[in-house]
Amino acid sequence: MAADTSLRPINVIVISSEGDPSYWKHLQGLPNCKLKVVPHLLQERINSQQSQVFKSCEVEGYAPQIIVLASPSKSILTEHLFIIRSHPKLALAPVLALTPLTELGPARRLADKVSPPTLSAADLYSQILALAKLTSELENFSPVGDNDDISLRRLINLLRFLHSRQNMKLSPDREKDSPCGYVYPLAAALLDAPQNQGPASLEDLEVQGFLTGRLQDRIHLCPQCEHYQINFREVCPRCRIPHIQLHHNIHHYRCSYVGPEIEFQRPYNQRAQTHDQWNLVCPKCMKKLKDIGVDYDRPSTSYVCFRCSEVFLEPTVNCLCMNCGGDFSTDKAKLQDIKIYSLTAAGSEVAEQGLGNYKLTDPDICNGLLPFEIFTNIFHIQFGISRRSNRPLCLASLTWENVSSQGSSGGNDQGRWLMKLGAGLRENLRGHDAITLLDQSELLILSPETNKQEAGIALNRALKKSEELIPPGFRLQRALAELPREENKLSLLIQRLRFPNI
Ligand SMILES: [Zn+2]
Ligand SMILES: [Zn+2]
Ligand SMILES: [Zn+2]
Repeated sequence: MAADTSLRPINVIVISSEGDPSYWKHLQGLPNCKLKVVPHLLQERINSQQSQVFKSCEVEGYAPQIIVLASPSKSILTEHLFIIRSHPKLALAPVLALTPLTELGPARRLADKVSPPTLSAADLYSQILALAKLTSELENFSPVGDNDDISLRRLINLLRFLHSRQNMKLSPDREKDSPCGYVYPLAAALLDAPQNQGPASLEDLEVQGFLTGRLQDRIHLCPQCEHYQINFREVCPRCRIPHIQLHHNIHHYRCSYVGPEIEFQRPYNQRAQTHDQWNLVCPKCMKKLKDIGVDYDRPSTSYVCFRCSEVFLEPTVNCLCMNCGGDFSTDKAKLQDIKIYSLTAAGSEVAEQGLGNYKLTDPDICNGLLPFEIFTNIFHIQFGISRRSNRPLCLASLTWENVSSQGSSGGNDQGRWLMKLGAGLRENLRGHDAITLLDQSELLILSPETNKQEAGIALNRALKKSEELIPPGFRLQRALAELPREENKLSLLIQRLRFPNI
């Protein structure tokens, strides 16, 4: 096979089961490839600070070499994929796993390619070339300084990983050992979070506008321990035990008594085993019942509690947490949305350019509202994208219309009511719509990739669902502006929104 001389030599690191070249022997003869073989990275070596192996993998900036993981062991492959993806400098490296295994589980998402070691040399070479292309794409990312905050670097790695892999999506995998029942293995590795962690950090990135989520499932969590293992069962509404039974009611024509069948049942001999062998005797008049339709009928059904004998038409559904033993009603269960996340335009921008002057911090989310400073950061990023790509961006403002005439309502009150309303709206708007409270007197809502008409419809719908949060006597005044056609400074825009006639 002819080497493509226009290419630079491709640096390939092979991490292999020690002393066993059977899984990577083809690589030795590939043209244009500089092969370096390292014994496999054991966890203890990482822990004992033997960074030698990492040093040999690292290159300048964000242009890691191709890593080939060669092993027949699922646990070794899984462990090494996590080590590589959670290493801040190696996280983006193109990884080819050479293994006879056909099923790698969720760890499969961490490798760029999984191939059998029996691959022909020509096929192997074309896979190496495809990964080399990815390497040169990674080189285009502006470098992140060594001094940058490590968690910030990991967040940018996550965005860059998705961007460099053709806007790959972050999909959840079912995992019974995760508190919410799902895991995001790739995100957990890139962010160096516990492997059984749910979507918490991805939700933060959605609120900040860098990811957008599409609902995949909705989980009920225990309100005490936030665990998904809940037993939903029908219980007695009075004493709340599940020992209840559905019975037909019997109406005895002769004396008009109505009661559950169990009250009528008498065994007609000592060895009676089934209900067919029971007589029906009216508990009120003690007459034996003969034929349905002639002297009695079954007009309805009801439940009877075995403990407290309560008779009721509908049982209550109640939850028992199998993790902490908490007992609670269904409306107390906490709902957790499980989504498939993908990059927004702002996420792609940050992947390419880094954050520049903008700060990406853990949002100090108060009732889902963003601190004004973070809101402003997001606005600037989204505004830049909107202007360059001519995509719509909407900013809405909500204030109390007649608040000055509310003699009894001071400024604190209007701010408090607005914050409550904002939290209600947060629940009913899209995850990547950003909301902030300005000066305790105005809610601002930023909706990326949304025109004025769509934003208006979404806002109306969310307001309708939050109606009860508008106190009596208060009326909302709203203003909407669509970018990039309108003002280009956030401060001016806010003024415009407040004073639409200026
Ligand atoms: Zn009961
Ligand atoms: Zn009777
Ligand atoms: Zn619990």
